[in-house]
Order: sequence, then C-alpha cells, then structure tokens
Amino acid sequence: MPTVACTNCCRTNRVPAAAEGSPRCGNCRAPLPWIAEAGDADFGEVAEQASLPVLVDLWATWCGPCRMVSPALEQVAKDLAGRIKLVKVDIDKSPALARRFEVQAVPTLLILDRGRPVARQTGAAPANALRRWVGESLSASRGPADSTSGSP
Ligand SMILES: [Zn+2]
Repeated sequence: MPTVACTNCCRTNRVPAAAEGSPRCGNCRAPLPWIAEAGDADFGEVAEQASLPVLVDLWATWCGPCRMVSPALEQVAKDLAGRIKLVKVDIDKSPALARRFEVQAVPTLLILDRGRPVARQTGAAPANALRRWVGESLSASRGPADSTSGSP
C-alpha cells in the first residue's frame, strides 16, 4: 500500500487506492493527498466509485511531457487534499481505458465527478495552471450550490 506524508504534521500514513470517504492523517486528522494508480481492471473501483472528484492522468512511460506534468499533478493533489483524488493510468497497460476515453495524445487529463467526465485537457501545464483548471472545473460541475455554501 502506498504511503504519503501528512502535509500538516509530517506523519507517514498508508493510503489505500480505494476507500470510503477520503483519507485523513491518523495523527492529526488533516486531509491527506490521495494519489492512486488504476488500470482497466480496477478503474471502476478506484476512480468511478470514488467519493471525491477524480483527476485522471492518462500517461505513458515513453512520454516526456508526462514526466514533467506528473510532479505538477502531485502538487495539485497535495494543495487540494480532501477535495480531489489523483488517479494515474498508464495507457499502455490499460488499452480499454485509452479506447474508452479516446486518448489521442498524452498526457490527457480528465476530471470525473461521480464517474462522469466534466472536463478534459491534453498536454502538460504548470501546477498553478492545473490547480486553477481543476478548481474551475469542479465549481462548474457542482453548480452554484457550492458557491453559496456559507449561507443557509
Ligand atoms: Zn498529520
């Protein structure tokens, strides 16, 4: 099981690829970055049934831009811990997913909300641009209800 360091207290936690709710630090209860890998066999369980919106990174080992965007995506997963789950899919190991999402170029980034694609972009981008894109995509898909969450 992969481990992740809590960004709040630095405690190392084990984080399952699929779980109810979203992972929290066993020590301080802060939300943990959720970064998982999935393939054809477990994409449904890991990505589509996730309780959080999912940022899907469709990448390939031979793709230079993918190696550049990977740390940026992990930064976004840390910045948006508790709000988004990052799921990495190696398209060469997951031909059915590559066909299903009609991947023409890598990296292809998708945002799934309750299993439904709400946004998509192709190509690498810096972490701050990705974070903005993810935030805008989530607020668009959730509608105006979320932006008024402060009022009764
Ligand atoms: Zn902690």
